[in-house]
Amino acid sequence: MAKQISEGRKGAYYAGMVLMGIGGLMFLSVFITGAMNFGNFDNFESDARSSMFRAIGGMVLLFIGGAVRGIGAAGLAGSGVVLDPEKARSELEPYSRMAGGMIKDAIDESDIKLGSEPEKVIMIKCRECGKLNKEDSKFCQECGKEL
Ligand SMILES: [Zn+2]
Repeated sequence: MAKQISEGRKGAYYAGMVLMGIGGLMFLSVFITGAMNFGNFDNFESDARSSMFRAIGGMVLLFIGGAVRGIGAAGLAGSGVVLDPEKARSELEPYSRMAGGMIKDAIDESDIKLGSEPEKVIMIKCRECGKLNKEDSKFCQECGKEL
């Protein structure tokens, strides 16, 4: 249990959730008050302005909240804010442990492939002795027979 999600990240996650909640309510309230004031054009101009403000403010809060929550959940590197694959891996580590190491396995696997993929070598089998020879070789390494 060396690596755990830090308190700061947990805090960011919940703060993001709260921001998203407020943003969502602000956004929804536009429709609710819009429906309530339907047909009432006495304060049309100020209503429209407040609706605009709440709609845009709500969307901005939703957006920021979502971003903050994502950072809290996956860490700065893990959520792609900081491009640092090594850090991302360690920040996502708690999740890979939760998923029974499946994600970690996938990352490890992809690392191996990203590392040094051996070039595909085509070999020719000698018809006499069965020795595998390089594609461009003219004679068998083992028995000297022409390939
Ligand atoms: Zn041979």
